[in-house]
Amino acid sequence: MEQYDVIVVGVGSMGSATLCDMAKKGLKVLGLEQFTLANELSSHTGQSRLIRLAYFEHPNYVPLLKKAYAGWRQIESDAGVSLLHQTGIAYYGKPEGPLISGIQSSVSVHDLNMASISTDHYAPLQIPKDYKGLFEEVAGFITPEKAIRTYAQQALMHGAVLRQNERVISWRQHPNHIAVQTDQSSYQTDKLILTAGPHIQSLLPSFKLKLTITRQLIGWLNPSRWQEFSIDDFPCWVIEEEGIPGIYYGFPILPIEGFDGPIGLKIAYHAPGEVIEPGQVKSFDGSQGSERLLAVSRRYFWDQKMTMLNINSCMYTYSSDDDFIIDYLPQTDEKIILATGFSGHGFKFVPAIGDVLSKMARGLSEEVDLTFLSVDRFGDQEHLT
Ligand SMILES: Cc1cc2nc3c(=O)[nH]c(=O)nc-3n(C[C@H](O)[C@H](O)[C@H](O)COP(=O)(O)OP(=O)(O)OC[C@H]3O[C@@H](n4cnc5c(N)ncnc54)[C@H](O)[C@@H]3O)c2cc1C
Repeated sequence: MEQYDVIVVGVGSMGSATLCDMAKKGLKVLGLEQFTLANELSSHTGQSRLIRLAYFEHPNYVPLLKKAYAGWRQIESDAGVSLLHQTGIAYYGKPEGPLISGIQSSVSVHDLNMASISTDHYAPLQIPKDYKGLFEEVAGFITPEKAIRTYAQQALMHGAVLRQNERVISWRQHPNHIAVQTDQSSYQTDKLILTAGPHIQSLLPSFKLKLTITRQLIGWLNPSRWQEFSIDDFPCWVIEEEGIPGIYYGFPILPIEGFDGPIGLKIAYHAPGEVIEPGQVKSFDGSQGSERLLAVSRRYFWDQKMTMLNINSCMYTYSSDDDFIIDYLPQTDEKIILATGFSGHGFKFVPAIGDVLSKMARGLSEEVDLTFLSVDRFGDQEHLT
């Protein structure tokens, strides 16, 4: 039977970076991925993911974000690729709303740079006059599919074993090893890392964790004047509309050269979508979601003639407080590591989480305080072992 120092279950966003880091540190590692790399049936496809530093969700995340920014630049330099594009993000919302006040809180706690902009700063946008505008220069987007492939390739180049289209069915902890059963083979490992995204529940049969899987729709619009939205002139944007939860957000049009499709002006809504089982992610009627995103475009863009070119879906894995869950699985003697509950905002952190999980597997301590992401915060009502 094949034996490893560490097996990573799920080579998606967090798993690919973790596998890469451990391979670089000289560990004997295996990554098991049930589908192919960068697959449409998990949480990481859709061409682009926002990255921002002045985190409106909570200032606690900023040290981890600083680590992530450094990690993105490191993997880019190691692999000779471009993954992080600092177009800046324009934020708009009521001054007292969670978006603007949350950003200002992170700015003041961590002394970050943030500029004020007027509501008519970007000509294509139609922003209510009583909203406040902010611009964060270091923010922008990452290309998730390319990032996952880059990490996986680097992991392989440093000796990792990667098996695609092989699903982990179960694992069992024994006194001296952990046995992992897949649909094709059996393995033994000293440590196990579970980075299974929205499919995590089937791997936690005796550990009940409150997680909610939702289907999220993303649209690509066809504007009247494409040149207005070029990556050189138009930034990423986030708008918090008064009276509704979450945020609307979007990207510039990404040029064909250098970026995968779909083509068009990407727009999305970051708030819980329909609750689903992971297998249902692609069975949806896009017309309602399409209508909603078109209505958003008519409220916030001057161009009233946009049409929808393409609508796609992806999944969020919500924890009960929208904060990540990064910890050792209780009562496993720190042999099994869990990273889940990324609640629709995890991708930007990928290099930092990869480093953190790799350190946890090697028994090293982490300088960034992550106690706010521990399993313990839920108390006994939320989980039973
Ligand atoms: C529409 C959308 C927009 C988003 N926008 C942003 C954004 O702008 N910024 C941001 O920071 N984040 C964003 N996110 C969130 C971010 O993409 C996720 O938080 C992140 O991808 C979660 O990573 P993960 O590693 O937990 O899961 P995944 O990337 O889904 O990886 C899990 C992997 O595990 C594999 N797997 C599962 N079970 C098994 C098994 N039993 N055996 C083998 N393999 C298995 C899966 O096939 C998958 O490849 C967005 C998400 C969506 C859906």
